[in-house]
Amino acid sequence: MKPAKFEYVAPVTVAAAVEALLAASGEGKVLAGGQSLLPLLNFRMTRPAVLVDLNGIKEPLSFIELRDDYVAIGALTRHREIEQSPLIASKLPVMAAAMRHVAHLAIRNRGTIGGSLSHADPAAELPMLSLFYGASLLVQGPSGRRIIAAEDFFVDALTNCLKPEEIVVEIDFPILQQNGWAFEEVARRFGDFALASIAVSVRRGASTIEDARVAVMGVADTPLRLKEVEGQLRGIAIDDQMPDRFSELVTSSVSANGDLHASAEYRQHLLGQLARRAMQTALASEGDRR
Ligand SMILES: Cc1cc2nc3c(=O)[nH]c(=O)nc-3n(C[C@H](O)[C@H](O)[C@H](O)COP(=O)(O)OP(=O)(O)OC[C@H]3O[C@@H](n4cnc5c(N)ncnc54)[C@H](O)[C@@H]3O)c2cc1C
Repeated sequence: MKPAKFEYVAPVTVAAAVEALLAASGEGKVLAGGQSLLPLLNFRMTRPAVLVDLNGIKEPLSFIELRDDYVAIGALTRHREIEQSPLIASKLPVMAAAMRHVAHLAIRNRGTIGGSLSHADPAAELPMLSLFYGASLLVQGPSGRRIIAAEDFFVDALTNCLKPEEIVVEIDFPILQQNGWAFEEVARRFGDFALASIAVSVRRGASTIEDARVAVMGVADTPLRLKEVEGQLRGIAIDDQMPDRFSELVTSSVSANGDLHASAEYRQHLLGQLARRAMQTALASEGDRR
C-alpha cells in the first residue's frame, strides 16, 4: 500500500519546523528516521496532511556531549551512533549494553533517539532507558523551549505528552554513581521488540546496597521505573539470597500484560528470571564500571 496524499516540507531551522506544524493545525507529523512512521504511513494507519522532515535542519540536532554530570544527546542522533559511542560506553554503560538490542542494523542506521522516544513503544529500549536514567527532554514549540521529565513524557502505549506543534530537540541523561549494573532482555528473535526486559544499577557499599536504579519494559503499556523496589533495596545486605529476593520484589511490584506475542503469565515469569540474572550480574561486577 502507498501513503495517503500529504504535503512534504523540509525546513532548515527548528523554528521553521514548528511553524510548519502550527500551520498544519494538528494535521502535521514530524519525520526523523522514518523507521516507525513510514510503515504507519504505508499502512495508512496515520494520514498526516503535512510531513515535516527534520533531516535538513542546519542547527545541531545530532550530537553526543558530556556536560558536567550528564550526557546530552541530540534528538536526531541515530541509534548506531549511540551504540558505537565511547562516551556512552563509559558514562551510560547500561544504555551502551541495550543499544544492540534495538531492532536490526539497517534500522539502527536510520532510527533516531528523538523518534524512538516520541513513538513511545512500550517494548522499546530508549524510552525505558530515559526513565531508568531520569532523563529530561528538551522540546521546542511555538512559545519557545520547555523541559519535560521522562517520567511525565510517556502517557500510554504509543502516546506521549507532546503538543502537536512541539519537537524534541535534545535529551539529557544524568550519569549514575554506580559500581554494578546489568541489562537483560528476551525477544523472540534477536532485534525484535522485547517480550520483557530489565535494567539495573547498584552502588554497593562494603556489605550493603547504598543506592539502586531499576526499570522494566515490555510488560505494561509504558516502560516503568520501579521506585518502590529501589527504596526496598537501599540498605539491604548483600548476600547469596539477594538475586532471589530482588526477583520477588520485582515480580510483586509489576503485573505483566499479555498480548498475542506472550501471555501475561509467561511475561511475569520471564521478568522474574531476568531480574534474578540482572542482579547476579550487577553484584558480580568488578570495581567501578561507570
Ligand atoms: C522491524 C522493526 C523492528 C524494530 N525493533 C525495535 C526494537 O527492538 N527496539 C526499539 O527500540 N525500536 C525498534 N524499532 C523502532 C526503531 O527503533 C525506530 O527507529 C524508532 O522507533 C523511531 O525512530 P525514527 O527516528 O525512525 O522515527 P520516525 O519513524 O521518523 O518517527 C516516529 C514517530 O515519532 C515522531 N517524531 C520523530 N522525531 C521526533 C521529534 N524529534 N520530536 C517529536 N516527534 C518526533 C514522528 O512524528 C512519528 O510519530 C523497530 C522498527 C522496525 C521497523
